Amino acid sequence: MLLRALAVSVLLVLGLGGTASAERVDVARTAPAGDLSGKVVVLDPGHQLGNASHPTQINRLVTAGPTRKPCNTTGTSTNGGYPEATFNWQVARLVAKALRERGVRVIMTRHSNSRSAWGPCVDVRGRAGNKIHADLKVSIHADGSLSPGARGFHVIAPARIEGWTDDIAAPSLRLARTLRAALVRADLPRANYIAGGDGLDVRGDLGTLNLSDVPVAMVELGNMRNATEARRMTSAQGRRGYARALVKGIVRALR
Ligand SMILES: [Zn+2]
Repeated sequence: MLLRALAVSVLLVLGLGGTASAERVDVARTAPAGDLSGKVVVLDPGHQLGNASHPTQINRLVTAGPTRKPCNTTGTSTNGGYPEATFNWQVARLVAKALRERGVRVIMTRHSNSRSAWGPCVDVRGRAGNKIHADLKVSIHADGSLSPGARGFHVIAPARIEGWTDDIAAPSLRLARTLRAALVRADLPRANYIAGGDGLDVRGDLGTLNLSDVPVAMVELGNMRNATEARRMTSAQGRRGYARALVKGIVRALR
């Protein structure tokens, strides 16, 4: 739609003649519809595959905002053993690729998914993007609820904590709502086991959110212990669906 509008304006300017026409054509060529160059997004694929084999490292306490918390956790898995760390990583890579194709500069908080690696800790994840004033940060996770029938996604926004998140709470909530809308539009069900049932949660205990100086939201894309969602998460097509929805939400938020 934007491309068509640009083309129309180019035609109009060309029709009027004069030197302005060349400039308009240039703008149309260098700024196609969907171009988001100059935008910076941090993607945080939750956990790391080797966290389970590095208990000393990941149990070390780090700053998580007003409290201290373990560096990280192992994450969950499907009942069949497909690890959350791998799911988060695979979805984040798809999202990163799609955003980069739109001109976005993407920064990942980890660069491997390896049994021999651990971390980074939540304080590092929480501060990622602060120095370079990233436009936004999305932390990608999946949940592991054992409640019977528990299913669906939810998006977590940081609670407003004076001195920590008071500067980002409002734009982060907007980001969380935008991501939720994109996931709903992709026909993904809202979590039926999170208070409110509206697919949105606000938490003050997460270092990844509390330490951020840029708008941030965490997505729990589904419940890995639910058979239907496990099937979706373990299939390449299913992961592409999650990634497409996240990209739409992120692009909307960047605009
Ligand atoms: Zn997780």
